[in-house]
Amino acid sequence: MLVVLALLFGVFLGTGVFAIILAAARRGRAAMEVTNTAVPDGVDQVIEALESAAVVIDPSNSVIKASPGAFTFGLVAHGVLVHPTLSDIVDKVRRDGEPVTQELHLSRGPFGDANLFLFVRVARLGARYVLLLAEDRTESFRLDEMRRDFIANISHELKTPIGAVGLLAEALVSASDEPEQVKRFAKRLTKESERLARITQEIIELSRLQASDALSKPELVDIDNVVAMAIDQNRVAAEAHDVNLVTKAKSGAQVYGDETMLVTALDNLISNALQFSPSRSRVGVGVIRRDDVIEIAVTDQGAGIPADEIDRVFERFFRGDPARSRNTGGTGLGLSIVKHVAQNHSGDVRVWSQLGKGSTFTIRLPEATSALAKTQGVQK
Ligand code: ADP
Repeated sequence: MLVVLALLFGVFLGTGVFAIILAAARRGRAAMEVTNTAVPDGVDQVIEALESAAVVIDPSNSVIKASPGAFTFGLVAHGVLVHPTLSDIVDKVRRDGEPVTQELHLSRGPFGDANLFLFVRVARLGARYVLLLAEDRTESFRLDEMRRDFIANISHELKTPIGAVGLLAEALVSASDEPEQVKRFAKRLTKESERLARITQEIIELSRLQASDALSKPELVDIDNVVAMAIDQNRVAAEAHDVNLVTKAKSGAQVYGDETMLVTALDNLISNALQFSPSRSRVGVGVIRRDDVIEIAVTDQGAGIPADEIDRVFERFFRGDPARSRNTGGTGLGLSIVKHVAQNHSGDVRVWSQLGKGSTFTIRLPEATSALAKTQGVQK
């Protein structure tokens, strides 16, 4: 790989290694050709051999060659670079003649707020062209972020119940001669330990989600199945709350991803909807297919979310004003988990809500199309 890289940079630094690459050109051409404009022959083979995504851009900023990785990362569409930031770097390199190396956060899909973290190198390729190489550093960035978050979460959220357990244990000792007091403290001790267990469980789940990528080994997932499973998991709770949990007819929609993760996300939305619904109201789950996007919506007729809280509900550990909602015993991690699942599937989650009227949470996911299958490297 080092040799190939050296060869490649040899090409665009114009140091004469070009001839060697020309010789390699005769062994066939595999990099995707976007137009037929001639590019120095050997470049194809080198691009093929590189692990990085590679794009060759001509003087009019048209992409004339792009490796499959460049399409998978969503860097190229309709023969041009998708992200203006990348076009700006290409222009700068063309203007100054100096190679540029930069770390960039770019959006991952056509919509949603999932990011790619790329290490990008751009340099001139001969007199006419510019070569862009991009390496995916999302995984290592995600691990770093996870480590940071985990420490912050532990210190903020576990401190209170751990402190309470300590105090209650002391209280138990001093009340050892009063059986009623002992019972009362023991009860509270059990409640605090259950809370600790729930928070720990959800932090682990969230960390696992942040560390993994549903699309690294994507499977074809039937959304109607996901809805049916999530509804099944909430039947008992719906009866307990006396809420009518309904879903519409079959959609036939499919996505690439991880079924268990998607069921967990929808389960969280439905159980929230039930928690915040008054008895004898209705919670509906619907699936809509629109322009290669699948929308799964959970609608309730519950308390709604005040305007000043709506932007914060997806934050880790955010809980609404307890004065307004009944004590749900929630950890404030549910919607954070939903957000990560949606992002891991190159999608997003949105909320519409009106106080006193109810809320609709919508997960949007790219539909499994044959074009997407190609970029994900999946057999349909
Ligand atoms: P939890 O439910 O464990 O408290 P979540 O992350 O699931 O944590 O939700 C965060 C907050 O968002 C909740 O405490 C609540 O204030 C608000 N919320 C979530 N879903 C709804 C809903 N369907 N209706 C009203 N408020 C909601």
